Amino acid sequence: MEIKITKTDKPGVMPLESELGFGKVFTDHMFLMDYEEGRGWYDARIVPFQNLSLHPASTVLHYGAEIFEGLKAYRRADGGVQLFRPLENIKRMNNSAQRMCLPEIDEKDGLQILETFVKLEEKWVPKSFGTSLYLRPFTFGNDESLGVHAVKRATFALIASPSGSYYKEGINPVKIMIENEDVRTVRGGTGYAKCGGNYAASTRAGERASKKGYSQVLWLDGVERKYVEEVGAMNVMFKINGEIITPVLTGSILPGITRKSCIEVLRAKGYKVTERLLSVDELVSALESGALEEAWGCGTAAVVSPIGALAYGDKEYAVNDGKIGAVTQELYDALTGIQWGKINDDFGWVYKIS
Ligand SMILES: *Cc1c(COP(=O)(O)O)cnc(C)c1O
Repeated sequence: MEIKITKTDKPGVMPLESELGFGKVFTDHMFLMDYEEGRGWYDARIVPFQNLSLHPASTVLHYGAEIFEGLKAYRRADGGVQLFRPLENIKRMNNSAQRMCLPEIDEKDGLQILETFVKLEEKWVPKSFGTSLYLRPFTFGNDESLGVHAVKRATFALIASPSGSYYKEGINPVKIMIENEDVRTVRGGTGYAKCGGNYAASTRAGERASKKGYSQVLWLDGVERKYVEEVGAMNVMFKINGEIITPVLTGSILPGITRKSCIEVLRAKGYKVTERLLSVDELVSALESGALEEAWGCGTAAVVSPIGALAYGDKEYAVNDGKIGAVTQELYDALTGIQWGKINDDFGWVYKIS
């Protein structure tokens, strides 16, 4: 694929790494390409970062035709830059595209786009451990018509934002509220697709939890409100009586690449990991009996996020005395070690850019 590059004549300045937050500062450029039914993708280009101009009837603005991905470029100690399992993100984006009737992209083109873009923006990859250049690819429908149908025109874009460490003040376990009113998605719905609409629909529960002093909600399934699914926008894992249990991918759960990597790392270390349905009743009895030893969320942003307390109804239960557990810490060290190139990657997960 040919990518036309137009460089900015006003290059920006990288903020102090200690002051980097998340998703507020953007790099000098952005990647764009357009799609039309019958013609396919065309006009692949990198241009100065700028506002988009959309027809007011664009499909994305009315019918939510949008999917996205999230991955990071990491700076190794030797100064080089690398991605973590980027092909997994491209494959998942194509699965999301199928669900939302948006066009898929060629896997090789996807890797070429990421590589070309990150090379061009290399100065924006921060250097300290825990920081990264967050990459946000997204595709949206932009038919200039209010008719409801599979989109005929779309745009694929890639923007990037240098991000600070998720754990600036150390890894502190969070308090989570089990949500039994709203549901995130349902089987047969869009739960396994990374689409903007899922986020819009789950914001309310998160806001309510936050007002009650909890950082996020633990989602239950949308059919019976019985089985545990995810925590906020992360997958979730529990250590119960020595065994690691994570909800099986039923279709309403987002298949996280961190989740998959955690399972593979844990199995390689000899832990028993089971993917199965886990009911909230089973979880609450494990909390009451003390069988629940550890709980954590996992996703690209935090890597792992230990859960220090779980609330159900008007009861709150501490998990591991509110401290990070040994397995959670082991996973954090193993994954971040590979991502930031501090330990050997025995799995073949890193994709070196430079
Ligand atoms: C992106 C996402 C995750 C985590 O996926 P990773 O590939 O590990 O970053 C989990 N749940 C939801 C709802 C997500 O959108």
